[in-house]
Amino acid sequence: MVSNTPRYIFITGGVVSSLGKGLASAALGALLQSRGYKVRLRKLDPYLNVDPGTMSPYQHGEVYVTDDGAESDLDLGHYERFTGVSATQSDNITTGRIYSNIISKERKGEYLGATVQVIPHVTNEIKEFITSDAGNVDFVLCEVGGTVGDIEGLPFFEALRQLRQELPINQSCHMHVTLMPFIAAAGEMKTKPTQHSVKELRSIGIQPDILLCRAEREISDSDRKKISRFCNVRESSVIQGLDASSIYTVPLSYHYEGLDSEVLSHFNIKNAPSADLSKWQKISDTLKSPDGEVIIAVVGKYTVLPDAYKSITEALVHGGIANKVKVKIKWLEAEEFENNDDIELLKSIHGILVPGGFGQRGSEGKIKAANLARTMLLPYFGICFGMQMAVIEAARNMAGIEHASSSEFDMEGENIVGLMTEWSKGGEKIHRNLETDLGGTMRLGQYPAILTKGSVVEREYGKLKISERHRHRYEVNIDYKERLEAVGMLFSGISPDGLLPEIVEIPNHPWFVGVQYHPELKSRPFEPHPLFSGFIKAALMQSRLV
Ligand code: GLN
Repeated sequence: MVSNTPRYIFITGGVVSSLGKGLASAALGALLQSRGYKVRLRKLDPYLNVDPGTMSPYQHGEVYVTDDGAESDLDLGHYERFTGVSATQSDNITTGRIYSNIISKERKGEYLGATVQVIPHVTNEIKEFITSDAGNVDFVLCEVGGTVGDIEGLPFFEALRQLRQELPINQSCHMHVTLMPFIAAAGEMKTKPTQHSVKELRSIGIQPDILLCRAEREISDSDRKKISRFCNVRESSVIQGLDASSIYTVPLSYHYEGLDSEVLSHFNIKNAPSADLSKWQKISDTLKSPDGEVIIAVVGKYTVLPDAYKSITEALVHGGIANKVKVKIKWLEAEEFENNDDIELLKSIHGILVPGGFGQRGSEGKIKAANLARTMLLPYFGICFGMQMAVIEAARNMAGIEHASSSEFDMEGENIVGLMTEWSKGGEKIHRNLETDLGGTMRLGQYPAILTKGSVVEREYGKLKISERHRHRYEVNIDYKERLEAVGMLFSGISPDGLLPEIVEIPNHPWFVGVQYHPELKSRPFEPHPLFSGFIKAALMQSRLV
């Protein structure tokens, strides 16, 4: 059902950040898909970093990596999980990237002597990003990060305003996400922040077509009327977005509130197919009435900010969906775990996951977690750094390499894990040394691996050749394969050239798997990642033992 020019839906936010704009965009994408339309989702980030790759997870949450190796905003993860459409390099852009493109064009003399300015050069670059390479889709949903009124966001809002005029009539829609706070002292919901936010938006020339008002309580008819009147938006286009018990119930509830039908009527689309939401209903039912519960300890470094592990959290939920159980996460701070004796605590959990990470802080705690999981026969899932730490643990305690370490934080030890200075991608050699830039120089994106016949991972994947997304600088040194295999750690996944260990496992253990890549990035609620399903299944068996 693809029309010639896609229709554009612009999603902006007001009042406060963290209103779930990314989720709202993903949910709307899923609703349009459920009516048979093809969608594409994009994110514009007004900050000055070229990409979020060099930002601390405390600042920005997780860095989501696409198949083609873009280090991007975590909202792209929501888009992929909800719509199943794989995002690419051209789906996320930042002010930093836009300026760096413009400056390099200016240096090459491409502006033919013109004065390079925010309008039209920056705004043109933004519009080009929004409209280029849209593919064969019916709708492009384009979310702007930050909140209306932010200085950095202005060129983006200006570009949206211009696009509205340049696109054919009825080809674009502005949806603005705001907050309706409940003031306990007054016992009332308040419309004023929404009014102010829309006023701000209109002052820069954008009249929203749809308002999604996030609220913790039902919005009354009179408040809806008031918002409609003051914000110049049709009453039926004031949609309430209530807090949800699970993000996977959001498409259903926004559909119930009329979001997708309002969008379609804005575009004047008549006789649209009705929405088939049966798969969302099924997921929502499974989540509401699980058959049991497993508890997974996640031993990480940024545990105070769950957004830092967004895809891990979601992939665990998906593993739970596959096994019809609820997965409860116990966040353990790696550094604390290093010093405390938490064996008692581990008795009440059913599996340990050590996620990706960088640097020395907390590394010994993660090594200890791998050791306890291995020796207490608790299911263990090591991801990227978590795999590297499991290998160091095995080297130290199974193979007797006392000073086994990683050159990421220890140049003195015996480096079982070391900096990768060259590797091949698509037949080309990529080189790097200690001095290269930090940004964008890791092994990034999708790479294939060959699995060992009869291994746990072959059983879980059900095939021998896989392809997974990477984001790391260091690698386990293949030279240690024989010594570690001799003491019981199997290298069950290797790069096709035989040089890079991609998976290790311990066959003589209920479930102990470490992977150099990030399987969580490819897990979907409707297609849980096989390793997350397998890990949760093993944890479920463990829960029946204790
Ligand atoms: N710091 C490790 C590396 O660069 C692991 C990275 C990660 O866990 N994503 O290899």
